[in-house]
Amino acid sequence: MSLTFDILVIGSGIAGLSFALRVADRYRVAVVTKKEKIETSTNYAQGGIASVLGPDDSFDLHIRDTLQAGDGLCHGDIVEMVVKNGPARVQELTEMGVGFSRGQDPSAPFDLSREGGHSRNRIVHAHDMTGREVERVLVSMAEAHPNIEIFENHIAIDLIVECHLLKRGLLTTRKRERCWGAYVLDTRGNRIITFHAKNTLLCSGGAGKVYIYTSNPDVATGDGVAMAYRAGAVIANMEFVQFHPTCLYHPHAKNFLISEALRGDGGRLLDKRGRPFMEKYHPLKDLAFRDIVARAIDTEMKQSGDDCVYLDMTHHAPDFLKRRFPNIHEKCLTLGIDMTREPIPVVPAAHYMCGGILTDRRGRASIDHLYALGEAACTGLHGANRLASNSLLEALVFAHSAAEDLLAQPASADDSCLREVPRLEMPKNADSSEMVLITYNWDIIRRLMWNYVGIVRTDTRLQLAQNHLAQIQREIDEHYPNISLNSDLIELRNLATVAEIIVTCARKRLESRGLHYNVDHPQKDDAHWRQDTLLCLDEPAA
Ligand SMILES: Cc1cc2nc3c(=O)[nH]c(=O)nc-3n(C[C@H](O)[C@H](O)[C@H](O)COP(=O)(O)OP(=O)(O)OC[C@H]3O[C@@H](n4cnc5c(N)ncnc54)[C@H](O)[C@@H]3O)c2cc1C
Repeated sequence: MSLTFDILVIGSGIAGLSFALRVADRYRVAVVTKKEKIETSTNYAQGGIASVLGPDDSFDLHIRDTLQAGDGLCHGDIVEMVVKNGPARVQELTEMGVGFSRGQDPSAPFDLSREGGHSRNRIVHAHDMTGREVERVLVSMAEAHPNIEIFENHIAIDLIVECHLLKRGLLTTRKRERCWGAYVLDTRGNRIITFHAKNTLLCSGGAGKVYIYTSNPDVATGDGVAMAYRAGAVIANMEFVQFHPTCLYHPHAKNFLISEALRGDGGRLLDKRGRPFMEKYHPLKDLAFRDIVARAIDTEMKQSGDDCVYLDMTHHAPDFLKRRFPNIHEKCLTLGIDMTREPIPVVPAAHYMCGGILTDRRGRASIDHLYALGEAACTGLHGANRLASNSLLEALVFAHSAAEDLLAQPASADDSCLREVPRLEMPKNADSSEMVLITYNWDIIRRLMWNYVGIVRTDTRLQLAQNHLAQIQREIDEHYPNISLNSDLIELRNLATVAEIIVTCARKRLESRGLHYNVDHPQKDDAHWRQDTLLCLDEPAA
């Protein structure tokens, strides 16, 4: 089966939906999303969106804080563009009906909170469920738009690009690489659909699931980065994985984040014996940058052998905590933890990918007619470390600039379409009894990445991880064509690719900077490494 749209958007989070809504008055848009449409990282974002909205704040201060977090690798022009666009994008969300929390002062439109690394209160939020509120509004508007069709339970397998068509003998000459859409598995109908589009947007989110402990939902398997890499796009800075210092530690809590905003509101990290420890690591103590706090917790846990540390909020009145953090308070209570009376057990977990598909300021990837937005992209905003709450902002600003780019193109500019895109067939005589291969390798990759490519790295562990991953990749390549195609297998293939990309980038960078800390190269080396790590598949053979 084949479907044709003007634009194919892969992903229904803040990046995909806010982009789709901007272009849908002019273009027919398909949004494919691999689970239910709200199942996105966006939906779980708690803290909020960073933007200059307070009377004591300025663009210069937000820019300075972002550059400081990025540790020498942010692209200054991009930081300026994102920061200066912030207030307008937040205002648009408000006009669309997003209900941000209001301050005590009725004249102030927003209650602005502060998070680690910010020198001013500038996080606009909807209590501690900002993402849910934003996603609710975007989904309902996208559903109501006659030019947007949302395909749930449709997982993109691969992009349709010329190098793949050349390999299969379907093109004879090759110009600059371009994208024609994607092959997508309809997981309910168990069929592959060719989505044919003049422009394709990868808005597929992050890759936290490559680690065994993560704050990310199950959909975050790095599919966009892996598909773009296979298609020949340039990928950048994948060694910079942000570990959130505080995920809830409880056997029945899967991926539940304890927001940075708790430390912004005076939360203190304690060891098992109730002793605060952050003053040993940084003058900002509990408000230090995430990487410093995550590394400090990792060190404390390794030294003590304890399974977790604790975040204490009991100095606040119970009423304040219930009002300010209703979601976290409720979740903890369901697990028997009363945060108004006792500290919350927490551990660090993989949270955010600063690297991704390299784009320019319009969101264009290095393949024609392919864009990447949101967490799947590497725009130059975050550099070596993301400032808290800058990612929802980045997704909004780049969705706006990619839409402007497409809307500025005259209708006749490029109407060419490859009419004869070949079908991708379901494997014949596929074996569905070998699911154990998939589940086993999923687990191996995630543990390997946590143990060898985690918060603290060494040359030896990175080398060993690369060897193990090469073996797993060979196994997947050998068996992939013989096993029934399903989303677990597609995601496994992508997880393995993303893991290899992270390790390759980490091995290239012979220094420690931002989120990348290697014991064998503990210093920052500006002379050699004040630059992005770029990775691209070798020119595929025709
Ligand atoms: C718990 C948590 C809290 C956070 N809190 C904040 C915060 O307070 N502030 C902030 O700025 N950032 C926060 N972040 C980060 C932020 O939420 C994400 O970076 C952002 O939401 C990413 O948006 P996105 O649109 O790029 O991707 P997502 O919102 O993750 O959406 C990705 C979409 O792509 C789809 N998809 C993926 N692969 C495929 C495929 N192969 N085929 C079809 N569909 C696919 C998924 O199903 C999903 O619909 C948080 C993240 C988490 C996990």
